[in-house]
Amino acid sequence: MDAWRSAAVEGASAEQHAGVGVGAGSAGCALAARLSEVRSWQVLLLEAGGQPPAASKIPAFSIHSYSRKSIYNYYFSTTSQKNALYAYENNKLVANAGKVVGGSSAVNYMLYYRGNRRDYDRWAALGNTGWDYDTVLQYYKKAENYEGKLSAEDLPYHGLGGPLSVSNSNWFDLSKYIFAAAKELGFEKIDPNANKTIGKY
Ligand SMILES: Cc1cc2nc3c(=O)[nH]c(=O)nc-3n(C[C@H](O)[C@H](O)[C@H](O)COP(=O)(O)OP(=O)(O)OC[C@H]3O[C@@H](n4cnc5c(N)ncnc54)[C@H](O)[C@@H]3O)c2cc1C
Repeated sequence: MDAWRSAAVEGASAEQHAGVGVGAGSAGCALAARLSEVRSWQVLLLEAGGQPPAASKIPAFSIHSYSRKSIYNYYFSTTSQKNALYAYENNKLVANAGKVVGGSSAVNYMLYYRGNRRDYDRWAALGNTGWDYDTVLQYYKKAENYEGKLSAEDLPYHGLGGPLSVSNSNWFDLSKYIFAAAKELGFEKIDPNANKTIGKY
């Protein structure tokens, strides 16, 4: 975000920049940061919202955005559904998105979950070259800075030294009962971003 700040402070115009991005959300910030690695380039990133609140740094604490309308979110609504959403007022559901520097990543739960290998491989099989899991995994690893202990089995799926820090959850006390119940049902403890996606984590 340094490039964005310096451009705003200096009052530089869009014409003076090698790249102009609209939306300082997850994708916009990552793109602007990568572009600004070219030292001779100036990058301008425009954002509709302001600075995120301090609470945005607390994992799983997106209450400031999710449960009520605020200056940090768009608080979109679905249209009224005839055959669904019976538990909701006027059969409408809130569809949230962050309106703030950081975008939806500043109002989300910070759960890091890449998804199932078979989805990526299916996209590739449908003709989307480069979207197979093994190819995409290289970029996930490049982006990641895993902070924690890894088993030899999970190590090949994680990266160190990237710009995105990922750590294990510090679960609250009550969670040990939930984990015990999951174990009783036969779910083993897994790393959901390695080679298994069904289990407890
Ligand atoms: C409540 C909630 C919880 C979530 N939890 C998780 C989670 O735990 N784990 C996970 O992986 N994902 C989660 N997500 C999803 C994830 O956060 C989003 O998929 C991701 O952040 C989207 O990134 P993006 O760059 O596409 O858009 P965004 O991050 O939404 O960025 C779009 C940006 O563009 C700006 N913008 C739009 N129009 C304009 C304009 N005309 N001019 C200037 N700026 C504009 C917006 O204000 C916003 O800042 C969650 C999302 C929400 C809403």
